[in-house]
Amino acid sequence: MNDAAKPSDHVVVVAPHPDDEAFGTGGILQHAAAKGIRTSVVFVTDGELHTDHIPIRRDQARDAASILHIHDTYFLGYAARKMRSWYDVASELAIVFRDIEPTIVLLPHVAETDLDHHMVSMVGSEATWLAYSPHQHLAKASPISTVLCYEIWTPIQRPGAVYSFQEDIMAVKEAALQCYTDEDNRYSLGSAARGLGAYRGSMYGEATFAEAFLIASYRSDSRLSQLINTHPDTPGTEG
Ligand SMILES: [Zn+2]
Repeated sequence: MNDAAKPSDHVVVVAPHPDDEAFGTGGILQHAAAKGIRTSVVFVTDGELHTDHIPIRRDQARDAASILHIHDTYFLGYAARKMRSWYDVASELAIVFRDIEPTIVLLPHVAETDLDHHMVSMVGSEATWLAYSPHQHLAKASPISTVLCYEIWTPIQRPGAVYSFQEDIMAVKEAALQCYTDEDNRYSLGSAARGLGAYRGSMYGEATFAEAFLIASYRSDSRLSQLINTHPDTPGTEG
C-alpha cells in the first residue's frame, strides 16, 4: 500500500514521565513527522513528586515536543509513583485512544525495572484492548494495527525491530532531552541516549545509531513500517 493510501496513520507514544518519549522514541518520532505521519504523546504522570514543579515539567514537555515536531501532547496528570488503580489509568487512556484514534501505539516494554515504566507498559497494553473491546457499549473496530514497545532505563534483551539513524537525528533527539533540565543534569539524559543509541547502532550495523523495540503486534503496510527493520539479526551480526 503506498503513502497516499494511508493518509490517516497516527503514531501515539504513551510515556510514563515527560522525558521518556524523547529518550525511547525521539528519533523515530521526528523522522515520522518529517514523513508527514501524525504523532502524539500521552504523558501518564507528570514525573514529579512536588506539585509546584508540574507546570515547569509540562512546559519542558511541550518544548521537547516542539523540537521533535510532535503534533499533540496530552497529560493525564497522575503523580509519579502514585498510580493506585491500573483500571482507572487504563480506562482513562482508553478514552484518549477512542478520541484520537491511533493506528500505531508505542509503549514502554514490560521488563522495565522502573515501577512507573512497568505499570504504564501493562496499563497501555490493556488500554489498546479496552478502548475497542466488544465488552464496551461503544465497541467499534480498532484502528490500531501496530504496537511496539520501546526501551528507557532497562535495555531490551532481544529487540524485534530497530529504527536506524544518523547524527542529524541524534542531535535533535539530544536537544529535546536537554529541555528537561533537572533530569538532564541529574542523569545526563542526552549522553545516555547517545550511548544507548550508539550501542544499538553498532550491534545492528545499519547506521551510527538505532532505537530498539519489541513487537507486540505489527502490520507491514503502515507508513511507519517503512522506517524500521523488523529482522534486526541481519547477516554480519554475531548471534
Ligand atoms: Zn521515566
